[in-house]
Amino acid sequence: MTKKPVKAKAKDKSAVKPASKKKAAKPMARSAPARKVAAAKKPSAARLSPHQRKFILGEERIPKRWYNIMADLPVPLPPPLHPGTLKPIGPDDLAPLFPMQLIMQEVARDREIDIPEPVRDIYRMWRPTPLYRAYALEKALGTTAKIYYKYEGVSPAGSHKPNTAVPQAFYNKEEGVRKLVTETGAGQWGSSLSMAGALFSMEVKVFMVKVSFNQKPYRKALMQSYGGVCVASPSLETNAGRQILAADPNSNGSLGIAISEAVEVAATNPDTKYALGSVLNHVLMHQTVIGIEAIEQMQQANAYPDIIVGCTGGGSNFAGLTFPFIGKQLRGGKKVRVIAAEPAACPSLTRGRYAYDFGDTSHLTPLVKMHTLGSTFMPPGFHAGGLRYHGMAPLVSHLKELGLIEAEAYTQNACFEAGLLFARTEGIIPAPEATHAVRGAINAALHAKAHGTSPTILFGLCGHGHFDMQAYMDYMSGKLEDKSYDQAALEAALAGLPQIAAE
Ligand SMILES: *Cc1c(COP(=O)(O)O)cnc(C)c1O
Repeated sequence: MTKKPVKAKAKDKSAVKPASKKKAAKPMARSAPARKVAAAKKPSAARLSPHQRKFILGEERIPKRWYNIMADLPVPLPPPLHPGTLKPIGPDDLAPLFPMQLIMQEVARDREIDIPEPVRDIYRMWRPTPLYRAYALEKALGTTAKIYYKYEGVSPAGSHKPNTAVPQAFYNKEEGVRKLVTETGAGQWGSSLSMAGALFSMEVKVFMVKVSFNQKPYRKALMQSYGGVCVASPSLETNAGRQILAADPNSNGSLGIAISEAVEVAATNPDTKYALGSVLNHVLMHQTVIGIEAIEQMQQANAYPDIIVGCTGGGSNFAGLTFPFIGKQLRGGKKVRVIAAEPAACPSLTRGRYAYDFGDTSHLTPLVKMHTLGSTFMPPGFHAGGLRYHGMAPLVSHLKELGLIEAEAYTQNACFEAGLLFARTEGIIPAPEATHAVRGAINAALHAKAHGTSPTILFGLCGHGHFDMQAYMDYMSGKLEDKSYDQAALEAALAGLPQIAAE
């Protein structure tokens, strides 16, 4: 009895749909024109303020699923290879390092993967993050472009990295792992994983690149405040570290060396697993909450990006923002121009070779096909520590090869100039890494101004720079040098790439 009227009602609804579509549709499902009409009818409630600066979603709009771009790739991703056999690796090869749930995500082909409820619950601490229209920056530039940015600096650790640190800690905890070990360059990943470890009552050990360990005492203090243990790398705790120190007692360390140390500790301790903050497929997928939210927020703003810019170190914040948009395009949606902004001193996408290479210096990791400067390449010192990695995420590299994304490289002075203009107009001090995306967005906006076009630009502001004020001080006192990498050293590192017959 009760079922019939409901059914009839539903039928009624669809029967009258053409006439009263706007009334029947749920708010979230309204098309942009429908929303405009509704807004005109109800000016007080629904109309977009003509100068609305930020677009905010309620906690219930935190995505329920991550987006996996593997499902939409026109050409499959080249597989990772075992460093010994040079055959594609299987799940068992990775089992000493990662929990099975994450290994399965690494190879998953499903378009969407459910976000566990305990992870969504922690995401509620800072997600959804705000999307802003940069009116003040646009005005300062005198540009005809519209600029939007998605801000991930509102997370407790100050960047996008907790988006993956939390699920990684969760899946490890579920499989009974007690300790996590990792590496960190500038300290952002180490502090994010330390926070996630604290939330799930797990021990966290972080090998921090020695030069940063000495230069960034506050990041170390942040890790310790969360209960993490931070060790300068190279250290005497591992064979990899001891070997490096034997050859060079004054080694400043590198991300590649720190990864070797962390992987060794995980591989030799049964209760310990490894966690990586970027590069891997599952890490990039966890970050897609950024882009999924941004799509909905751009709808709120009655806009859609023509150009999207993100900075790339290992590629995770870039992928997180852009992959959901690229996925829509691959499924027949609007084409977007996607720009990866990287440092001129460590330019893997613009100057690297697309080849199989190791992820670390001691060659303990699988071989992955990526844009690489060679695993022995040592970039010159510059301030965006999170971008000092010799390789690039295989998925980001693959999209570059397929022509779905572009890349540009900027010097650090050009980036800090952009960062300061942003701070003085929009108020937020960008992380040194994020200034690369700001530079890219500003360049696109200035190009639009020069050509009389008015594109909609969206960029990723992946973190704030509150722990990096020394870098801003150096820039403001004119002390920053645009050091170029050593061309001969790059060629030597590339000559040392592993020879893979199948390439
Ligand atoms: C770690 C970090 C990066 C670089 O990593 P990706 O994986 O390329 O995102 C960039 N920006 C910030 C703020 C970071 O903490």
